[in-house]
Amino acid sequence: MRSTTSELNWSGTVTYTAERVVRPASIDEAAEVVARSPRVHGLGTRHSFNDVADTPGILLDLTGIPTDLSVDPERRTVTMGAGTRYGIVAPEIDRAGFGLANMGSLPHISLGGAIATGTHGSGTALGSLSTAVRSFELLGPDGGVRTIDRDDPAFDGAVLHLGLLGIVTRVTLDVEPTYRMRQDTYGPIPWDTFTEHVAEVHAAATSVCSYTVFGDEISEVLLKSRVPADAQDVQVPDELFGAPRLPGSPGDGHHTARDGSVGPWWDRLPHFPIESVPSHGSEVQSEHFVPLRHAAAALDAVRSMAARIQPHLHVCELRTMAADPFWLSPTQGEDVLCIAFTWRKHPAEVAALLPELEGLLVPFDGRPHWGKMSSLDAGAVADLYPRLADFRDLVSGADPERTFASAFGERVLGT
Ligand SMILES: Cc1cc2nc3c(=O)[nH]c(=O)nc-3n(C[C@H](O)[C@H](O)[C@H](O)COP(=O)(O)OP(=O)(O)OC[C@H]3O[C@@H](n4cnc5c(N)ncnc54)[C@H](O)[C@@H]3O)c2cc1C
Repeated sequence: MRSTTSELNWSGTVTYTAERVVRPASIDEAAEVVARSPRVHGLGTRHSFNDVADTPGILLDLTGIPTDLSVDPERRTVTMGAGTRYGIVAPEIDRAGFGLANMGSLPHISLGGAIATGTHGSGTALGSLSTAVRSFELLGPDGGVRTIDRDDPAFDGAVLHLGLLGIVTRVTLDVEPTYRMRQDTYGPIPWDTFTEHVAEVHAAATSVCSYTVFGDEISEVLLKSRVPADAQDVQVPDELFGAPRLPGSPGDGHHTARDGSVGPWWDRLPHFPIESVPSHGSEVQSEHFVPLRHAAAALDAVRSMAARIQPHLHVCELRTMAADPFWLSPTQGEDVLCIAFTWRKHPAEVAALLPELEGLLVPFDGRPHWGKMSSLDAGAVADLYPRLADFRDLVSGADPERTFASAFGERVLGT
């Protein structure tokens, strides 16, 4: 078991205040650490842009526990260690004849971390990565294991938990027969055409992502289309709301292929291959979710700040996500538009912009991504999450001594 002090998150903008980071090599070792620690918190691959993973006690890094993949073809599930990175296990799931319904933009993240924050890909008919969870095993404060599955009354409150309920050791996910996809590039679409048809643009394929810097246009749209099981390829449109299909990159080591070539699901759903440094590499991110019915008005509101946003912006990615019933989900109750900012690594300037930006989204019930920068505190969050009080009760019941408490939880959720 490795143990270190003073560690940073992926972007280098958050220094964990934890006393130590401990990396167990087995679930038994993890359970021992939990049982003897008054304060402990789960850690994935550190890709969150805030202190959601931090604790004053022990940070338990689960990435050293073997994946130990098991496939159940009858139940159509796969089970593996929560510290597993999607990109490592996805080809193995494919080789077993199965596929996941969706992935985030980067395959580098751990299952445990992605599920705990409601991480998502894109697709109006597709839920967040948390919605694929059939069950999970959780170490409680005494180091004992509890399995929570979809039949458990606590499931909808517990699956998206921000590390506040315990340490997730193993996760069982839904899978389906494996499939192939292609990714095509279109653009540009004038701003007004896009906002008038935003829901239709994002319904044009299995998964759609649009990019803008809040000028006069949406510069690029990516369509990720599933190839039917009995076909070699799938027909895609030559143009999208007037935007031509572009040649697209064949896959340059930094991005997955965007040229219409057909490939496995795990090499088309993410934007970046696992061997690359994802995204811009030098950045911070914030992301805001609004009900899809408010998409045009919310985008116009954000664009009113364009002149102040642009000096700090790499790009903004727009995606959609299907509703789910999870108490802390940003998409709880209604399909959403995701407005994801990849900012230059200007954390102080971005933090200064966020109160106004998030204020503009209040009329649209704008909710923040739990793993990214936000100015919202527990007062604001309480108005956005009708089940927040139930989540606080769940935490008090599962963790009465507050072993898994975090400063983030206290500040943002009032737990
Ligand atoms: C370049 C980049 C691109 C991104 N793209 C996307 C995207 O496409 N879509 C999206 O939604 N988000 C995206 N994100 C955000 C990222 O997916 C989330 O922040 C995610 O939570 C990171 O997972 P992680 O494994 O790094 O978790 P961490 O950041 O290490 O932890 C996140 C949370 O999970 C908890 N946790 C982790 N493992 C466990 C465990 N085993 N048991 C209990 N609690 C645990 C932690 O306590 C913490 O609360 C991106 C981030 C980066 C850096």
